Amino acid sequence: MAHLSELQPQDSRHYFMLPQAPEDAGYYVYGTPAGGQFQYAHPSMMTVLLWVEREWAAIDSRKFGIGNISKAGGIKNEHASHMNGLQVDVRAIRKDGLQLPVTWHDHEYDEKATGRLIGVFFSHPLVKKVLFNDIRADPRVHPWPHHDNHFHVEL
Ligand SMILES: [Zn+2]
Repeated sequence: MAHLSELQPQDSRHYFMLPQAPEDAGYYVYGTPAGGQFQYAHPSMMTVLLWVEREWAAIDSRKFGIGNISKAGGIKNEHASHMNGLQVDVRAIRKDGLQLPVTWHDHEYDEKATGRLIGVFFSHPLVKKVLFNDIRADPRVHPWPHHDNHFHVEL
């Protein structure tokens, strides 16, 4: 699992950058800008992500993709949210486990596994809302424009 080290970048809010997917992590990172520049997480979000990582690694050997969280200092971006470090985008799971995007319409999309991953998020008490367009994966998700290849988690 991933650990926060003293070398881990921190922003003006004292939010840490998500560890950039060490080899033994249960997740991988993606997104623009790269290098974790959009992956500064509120301490609660960091706790949730590292908890989900452990739970997921116990049930599935595929890594899940973590994308945008917030930029350093919470500066504005092209999204309406993702400013306070309490939202995260997570890729849908692929059957082949490749670290690439997949929409819920695609053959490579693994609906059961994606539903299990969403379920792990929902089983953490801090998770309030998940936006995703495949409502069969988990009936608790809410459809939202442009959420075909990733789900958006809010604490
Ligand atoms: Zn999002």
